[in-house]
Amino acid sequence: LLPKLAGNPLFKLQCYISGKWCDGEGGETDAVINPATSEVIGYSPKISETQLSQAMIFSQQAQTSWQAQTAKHRSALLQKWYELIVANQESLAQIITTEQGKPLAEAIAEVNYAASYVQWYAEQAKRVYGEVIPAHQAQLQLTVVKQAVGVCAAITPWNFPAAMIARKAAPALAAGCAIIVKPAPATPFTAFALASLAEQAGIPAGLFNVVTGDAVMIGEQFCQNPIIKKLSFTGSTAVGQQLIRQSASNVTKLSLELGGNAPFIVMDDAIIEDAVDGLIQSKFRNSGQTCVCANRIYVHRAIYAEFCQQFTNKVAKLNLGNGFDNDVHLGPLINQAAVEKVQQHVDDAIANGATLVCGGKATKGLFYPATIITNASHGMRFAREETFGPVAAIIAFDDIEQVINYANDTPFGLAAYVYSQNVSHIHRFGAELAYGMVGINTGLISTEVAPFGGIKASGYGREGGKEGIEEYLVQKYLCQGR
Ligand code: ADP
Repeated sequence: LLPKLAGNPLFKLQCYISGKWCDGEGGETDAVINPATSEVIGYSPKISETQLSQAMIFSQQAQTSWQAQTAKHRSALLQKWYELIVANQESLAQIITTEQGKPLAEAIAEVNYAASYVQWYAEQAKRVYGEVIPAHQAQLQLTVVKQAVGVCAAITPWNFPAAMIARKAAPALAAGCAIIVKPAPATPFTAFALASLAEQAGIPAGLFNVVTGDAVMIGEQFCQNPIIKKLSFTGSTAVGQQLIRQSASNVTKLSLELGGNAPFIVMDDAIIEDAVDGLIQSKFRNSGQTCVCANRIYVHRAIYAEFCQQFTNKVAKLNLGNGFDNDVHLGPLINQAAVEKVQQHVDDAIANGATLVCGGKATKGLFYPATIITNASHGMRFAREETFGPVAAIIAFDDIEQVINYANDTPFGLAAYVYSQNVSHIHRFGAELAYGMVGINTGLISTEVAPFGGIKASGYGREGGKEGIEEYLVQKYLCQGR
């Protein structure tokens, strides 16, 4: 039975703006659907342009006082927010599974992953160091200080409803910024729940805001209102490009984490069992709906048959079902459009001569089973576009030169994975794969301590690590005479 969100202390149906819970001025709302059951979970408000511009003015005032506080003070409040997120992980995870569909265990893991960014930036808040530069003239003193960029905005996707917000909001707040978050329309309630915990943590009004409604209007305001000094976006490349164009007049500082098309390469010198396990983690987490999911799998011809056999045996043990049920590894996809895209990629591969080993059709509603396709080739549609679903299509290759060419033959450059025990191969992959992140003998690369982000059409800017806070800082060079 579905736990009743009505009894969930963090289940809020209002936006959190300027420290207040509010509905849209016109009373309009959008329905939010549980992808496992197609039931309406609740309604999120549609805020007006006036509400949004007032929120920005309030945030600007709040941010001025916030940046004047000590880093230690900001750190302590973030630490409190972190503790509340961890303490409320069950309630948060229930909201995530209800609105997003991922298995409850994955939702709990996501909450802890989100919390890890808040903890990390609570720590990093105290380490925003400047620089003293040996001067070019004896009477001068040259220093560089770092300051908060100002009021920020974030637009986030539905695949990690908590983590994608935490990795933007935590460094922003740590740096001394305020932030206004627009979550994806499919997953507003996790965002409201995080706001509720920020409120409980005592983060002052106006510093962390969550708004929902018309994405186009909100996106335009984020890009065009001069109060917003920085916009961080995670989502599709098309929307990212739109935001670049829209923010040209304001020259807004941007961070963009856009689409990926991750190659997963298994050399003939790899430990096959490890590569199979790594692929299962990378491919099927969140039913294949992550931007770093293995999208194209290249296996050396010498081990192709053996690899496919071992992989098929393990994939057969993955259960598809409602994320609240026990022993479920794959939940539903997010919506009908996602199911259709996955189906098109499968149909295209089969029409072009690939072999369907298992899966290949939605079982019911938005439930799409783990699917394996062999004898696939590099020209097929799944190899060119992000599938964002549980389809593992495996291509054979003959040598390292060829597979590096395949891997780099894409406009995208987010994550790549390589399995090999040969140090010179690993060295070459590390040097030549044109990606922001490369997993070597591992299928899981995400962590709050390292810089996450892409190159090429996958965007720019980094989240996590010591780099992540720089996105919310500006440098000021002081050239001081006597
Ligand atoms: P997806 O296809 O995964 O939903 P999108 O890029 O469409 O990816 O969505 C990611 C986020 O961008 C969501 O919060 C969505 O509401 C928002 N979004 C979509 N279109 C626009 C737009 N024109 N301007 C601003 N935000 C947008």
